[in-house]
Amino acid sequence: STFVGASFGGIAELYAQIQKAIGATERVFELLDETPEKINSDKNAISEKIKGNVSFKNVAFTYPSRKEIQVLKNVNFTAEFGQKIAIVGPSGAGKSTISSLLLRFYDITSGEITIDGKDIYDYDLENLRGNMSIVPQDVILFGGTIKENIAYGKPDATDEEIIKAAKQANAFNFVDGFPEKFETVVGERGVKLSGGQRQRIAIARALLKNPSILILDEATSSLDSESEKLVQEALEVLMEGRTSIIIAHRLSTIRNADKILVLDNGKITEEGTHQELINLENGIYKNLSNLQFSNS
Ligand code: ADP
Ligand code: MG
Repeated sequence: STFVGASFGGIAELYAQIQKAIGATERVFELLDETPEKINSDKNAISEKIKGNVSFKNVAFTYPSRKEIQVLKNVNFTAEFGQKIAIVGPSGAGKSTISSLLLRFYDITSGEITIDGKDIYDYDLENLRGNMSIVPQDVILFGGTIKENIAYGKPDATDEEIIKAAKQANAFNFVDGFPEKFETVVGERGVKLSGGQRQRIAIARALLKNPSILILDEATSSLDSESEKLVQEALEVLMEGRTSIIIAHRLSTIRNADKILVLDNGKITEEGTHQELINLENGIYKNLSNLQFSNS
């Protein structure tokens, strides 16, 4: 299957190209996430704090610009408050699309998405996005200081809060190593941070924002193993006490998820814990798992 081929052998090159293309859309999403629009914010819209129960019921979706392909078909799953739900599957299966629908970048074609039992479209958009954070594969910081980038999640944060978040995110040590520390300017005109360092800044930002729902979209996929360890550790802290939707390429990061969904060509084909899925004869997850753990 392409799922297996994507990670190993000749399709790796193609996979890298697709990832690059998808990375570009994720950057757009990230930017949109930073600037919540105020559409649909009529005065009856729900503005109460979100707890974090997420449910997809028979969700189907087609991108308006690409009507010939139904990207999601009858997707059903629930993520209860505090749970870790992992989504795995081949490149192009529709995983990132699920996160875009949750963030309401697009309207679903049919079905229903609820949060805490209420239709996602009944929420005030700013409230909805204010209660969610996404850590994508390729974090883009804005051109400002590290402090400003972290505090973006909570504009009134104190220096103590920013330092605490940076420590929890495994970012404090490298930031403290710069001559200007938290005042260091990053981005095109400033210090160039590695992918793993940018990710840890994004994690510190999310810690301050304190969202009920966290989306990790291949957050550790492009990191070297040392950086991955620091980011993974920080993500564990970040996931504590919230609902997490973890889109993962490396299965090692999702072994202890409460539930793993295998998405293939827009449909959920397998659902269960790691133990349950590796016991499925001829399962996609089982095959992938065998390959990844015997190759690493
Ligand atoms: P995954 O994250 O599993 O790799 P995606 O959700 O990114 O998959 O993509 C699912 C399908 O939707 C692919 O066929 C992809 O080309 C298409 N797609 C993704 N984003 C867009 C978009 N903004 N407009 C049109 N098609 C898109
Ligand atoms: Mg994706």
